[in-house]
Order: sequence, then structure tokens, then C-alpha cells
Amino acid sequence: MADRCHVVLIGPQGSGKGTQAARIAPRLRLVHVATGDLFRQLMTRDDELAREVRSYYDRGALVPDELTLRVLLQRLDELERESAEAFRGALLDGYPRNRAQAEALDQVLRERRDSIAAVVHLAVPRAVLIERLSGRLICPQCGATYHIRFSPPKTAGQCDRCGSALIQRSDDTPEAIARRLETYEQQTAPLLDYYRARGLVVDIDGNQPIDAVTEAILAALEPRVGDPSRCRSS
Ligand code: ADP
Ligand code: AMP
Repeated sequence: MADRCHVVLIGPQGSGKGTQAARIAPRLRLVHVATGDLFRQLMTRDDELAREVRSYYDRGALVPDELTLRVLLQRLDELERESAEAFRGALLDGYPRNRAQAEALDQVLRERRDSIAAVVHLAVPRAVLIERLSGRLICPQCGATYHIRFSPPKTAGQCDRCGSALIQRSDDTPEAIARRLETYEQQTAPLLDYYRARGLVVDIDGNQPIDAVTEAILAALEPRVGDPSRCRSS
């Protein structure tokens, strides 16, 4: 039976979850699982499900909980099937985003005898978030994230990792950004209290250079993720 230790990343859009997850997941031997990335991949298909997801995604609205959970579970099952031994845990980026999702995650982890080792909270002021989101570029092929000023690719417009042409996300428009930040404040930020009551939250100042944020997260997480007593389900 599985007994894995997962880490949850919580922070507003633009706080650097994806950027940091790509750096810390290999260091902690976790697999980066981002529901936003799963949806972006799903939307490359030409079918009814892809169109349904897009109808929420492009407006900056949350995809319904049931569908989101299904997509997440599919990915976790796939990781267990393909690399059961090597899969020590997920670094969850973008899930959970509301109370119902947090409760669903608890239930799923209980059934699998997995647990949450820590919840990393990345705090960044709103004005900085808007500046970051307006200049974000992503690679549609491999998912790498850049910023036109703060983290530019070596060659303008081209992914360092796979050479594909970089694009702006369809939900990084002023209207969708405003909506997503509002949803974060109303539905996601309250989850910090839910996890704080269980002693799981690690607060990180996300308004520092990218390397400094990575070091702060690793310093806080290494003792927790490496400690098996924290990783057993009760
Ligand atoms: P999230 O996944 O939380 O939405 P991203 O990781 O996509 O955030 O980061 C949003 C944008 O901000 C990207 O363009 C990224 O390159 C940039 N960025 C991330 N972290 C920092 C940082 N510490 N300083 C400056 N820019 C950053
Ligand atoms: P992200 O890449 O995390 O900013 O997510 C991009 C978009 O994907 C969100 O604005 C939602 O439309 C959708 N999405 C990602 N994660 C979730 C989630 N946990 N619940 C509902 N919708 C989600």
C-alpha cells in the first residue's frame, strides 16, 4: 500500500508556484503535478471535454471541482502505475483551490494512506503579481515559464529547454487576471487557516529574486520532507 508524502504549494497567480516547483521538485525527489498544466495539455485536444475546460479557463474561472479532481486523480494513478517505486510524492501546484477541493484531497489521501508533509505559502504583493503576470511567457511544448524582464529566455521568444516558440497564456489578460486574483482571495487564501490549524503551513516571502525564494523553500522543506514520521497517515 502506498505511503507517500506530498507537498502543497499555495499562492496567488503569479506568486511563482510553477517557477519554484520546477526547481524544487527534483531537489526533493517529488513529481511536479500542476492542475493548470494538466488543463493546458488537455485543451490541445479537439473534443468536447477540451472545449468545456476552455470555456472556464479563458475567462479565468475555476473548472468545476468534480472534473478537476478527475483530471488530478488520473495523473496520480498514471504516476503510480508507471513508476510506483520512484514516485515518492507529488508537489501539488494549483490544487486545492477551495474548501471542497481540500476536503476531497484529504479523502483521497486517506484512502491511499498518503499524507501532506507541508503546505508552502508563497506571499507576494498584488502590484508585483500584476507586473509578473503581464510579462509571463510560457512554452506550449514543455511548460517552461519565463518573464520578458525578470526571467528572459536566452534567445528572445524561444524556449531554452526545447527551442519551441514561446506564447502568452490565453488567461493572462487584464480581465482574467483580475478575476483569478479575486477568486484566490475569496476561495483559496482561506485554505491557509484550514492547513495552519494542522501545523502544516510554511510561510515564504515570494517577493525576492527567484534563487532566494528557492533557497528559502528548500531550507524550510528539507527537514519536513525527509522526516518519515511526518509522512504517515494517521
Ligand atoms: P504561478 O505559477 O504562481 O502563477 P509563475 O511561476 O508562472 O507563477 O510566475 C509568474 C511570472 O513571474 C513568470 O513570468 C515568472 O517568470 C515570474 N517570476 C516568478 N518568480 C519570480 C521572482 N521571484 N521574481 C521575479 N519574477 C518571477
Ligand atoms: P494555473 O495554471 O494554476 O494558474 O491555472 C490556470 C487555470 O486552470 C485556472 O484559472 C482554472 O481555470 C484552471 N484550474 C487550475 N487548477 C484548478 C483547480 N484546482 N480547480 C479549478 N480550476 C483549476
